[in-house]
Amino acid sequence: MRLVAITNWAYGVTVALTLASGTTMLLASSAQQRERAAVDQRYALDRATATIEDDALALSELARQFAINGDVADLLAYRRAQADLAPVETRTRHIRDAGAASDELRSLHDALGWVDALQAQQAQAIVARRRNDRNTAVRILFAPEYERELDRSRAAVERFQYRLDQRTGDDLRAAERTARIWRSASEAMLAITGLLFLFVLYFVFRRRVLHPVVKLSDVIGRLAAQDYDAEPPLYERIDEIGDMAQALRVFRENGIERQRLEHERDADRAARDLLSRMTQRMQGCDTVVELQAVVGRFVPELAPQLAGRLYLLDPVRNALLEACSWLDPVHSSNEFSPLSCWGVRRGAPHRPAGAVFDVPCDHLVGEVVPNSLCLPLTGQHGLLGLLYFERRAGFADDGLSDVYLQMLAENIGLALDNLRLREALRSLAMADALTTLPNRRQLDEVLAREVSKAERTGTSLCCAMIDIDHFKRFNDEHGHDAGDAVLRAVGTLLKDIVRDDLVFRFGGEEFLMLLPDTRPDIAAVRADEIRERIGALRVRYDGKDLGRITTSIGLACAPLHTDWASIVQTADAALLRAKQAGRDRVLSAIARKNRADLISAMQTRIATSSTP
Ligand code: GH3
Ligand code: MG
Ligand code: MG
Repeated sequence: MRLVAITNWAYGVTVALTLASGTTMLLASSAQQRERAAVDQRYALDRATATIEDDALALSELARQFAINGDVADLLAYRRAQADLAPVETRTRHIRDAGAASDELRSLHDALGWVDALQAQQAQAIVARRRNDRNTAVRILFAPEYERELDRSRAAVERFQYRLDQRTGDDLRAAERTARIWRSASEAMLAITGLLFLFVLYFVFRRRVLHPVVKLSDVIGRLAAQDYDAEPPLYERIDEIGDMAQALRVFRENGIERQRLEHERDADRAARDLLSRMTQRMQGCDTVVELQAVVGRFVPELAPQLAGRLYLLDPVRNALLEACSWLDPVHSSNEFSPLSCWGVRRGAPHRPAGAVFDVPCDHLVGEVVPNSLCLPLTGQHGLLGLLYFERRAGFADDGLSDVYLQMLAENIGLALDNLRLREALRSLAMADALTTLPNRRQLDEVLAREVSKAERTGTSLCCAMIDIDHFKRFNDEHGHDAGDAVLRAVGTLLKDIVRDDLVFRFGGEEFLMLLPDTRPDIAAVRADEIRERIGALRVRYDGKDLGRITTSIGLACAPLHTDWASIVQTADAALLRAKQAGRDRVLSAIARKNRADLISAMQTRIATSSTP
């Protein structure tokens, strides 16, 4: 049963009991009145009948006194008493009015009849006495018959009084009993009503006031501690508690909204911080590989609900190739033509499914069009790549907004553009403009790297110094531009036949080649091959064959010929010896042990020749 029904029932029963209690009180009051009336009636009847016997006997007494004494005063007293004694009808009427029943009245009437019957004999006696016939008078009034009649009349009166007493006593007791019953009933009803009233009051107070107030106070405490899981109870009541519950609901909704906004603001700030940190790291990247690592590390943190790929444009193949991916994207191919992507075509973010319906890109795979986003990465000179996102299965459609994703794409595009620019500048700084070979500055970097590698692994590192023979004369004969053409041709050849990061333009008409992890004898063979290939070059300038180009090559290998630090100088010294030996040849440096022997032999020779 619902609480309201219980309360209403309790109210109803309380009201019914109150009415019943009032009724019993009224009944008790009327019973009391009846009791009082019975007492009054008994008192009135007692008073009305008390003197009947005395009056009857008094007349007999006075009559007897007059009969004995013959005193006129006694006669007068008798007459007065007789006059005072009302007729039977009058007296019975009084008694009837006082509440005597008809059978009682009948009995009284009989008794009074007996008394009146005595008056006739008294009158005879008085007449006899007035005639001075005392004996007759005394005989009449003291005769046994008169005594019997007197006793009979006395007994009749006593019987009447007894019956009256009995009846009024019964009435009084009945009235008292009824009054007592109703009084007890009234008191019981009053007690029950009072108890029920107290129970209803307690119930109402506990259920309707105390309980809701305790609940609301608990909710207030939790809401004050910003625990918005606390839900205010739904009291649809038009009273203070209902108002309080309603106010708490509004307060909670406002709190939840405020908390949501705070979370949004915090998430926003966190996303901005992360984005800014990522941008800083990207600006510090030196290579695309480093940039890929930064993207692969930061983007899943920024948008954990999105898997994705970074594609970079390969201009040679005119394709977008996967550079890195995160969180296992499945809906886009690893490589595709830029035209396959509507984002690239339009030069704008493209979302084929989701809130707005659109055409899917060709690079998407699978039957179902995924909730994906393509963000083209552009730089100063056009397309650089593509940032691709797809929603991961089981993740809600919230998180980082598209605005941040676009900012992310712009920052990656900018970083890529910077990287390309820096790469171009570096290759400009590191490359020789005429031959496009790496220059001497780059040699320093590469040499340090290769020396350290060879030292670490204990392998042999060889260095070939290649110098064009009589180039000054060549310039003089054919002109400086023709000389440049020769330098370009030699540079192109070297680039083709040697790993292009291991051959350098050392300066002027000199080139340097590094041969890591190569035995000296093999290096010598390789160097001679190069000399022959250059010699086989046919360079034409201005429609003229410029003739055969010969080169001298000095070869030095560490650790056989020299220590690591002096490998270039040793190769240069070997070159000098090749020039001195007649050019167009490869000469290896002298092994360190042989060199020590040679030096001591030379010193001996010098000492001998200088002796007089
Ligand atoms: P050797 O056989 O002893 O090496 O004689 P060489 O003439 O080649 O050597 P030398 O050092 O005397 O002359 C080098 C010449 O190379 C001098 C310089 O004019 C020329 N040269 C240096 N750099 C360039 C260049 O960039 N272009 C042209 N055309 N000539 C250059
Ligand atoms: Mg030279
Ligand atoms: Mg030269």
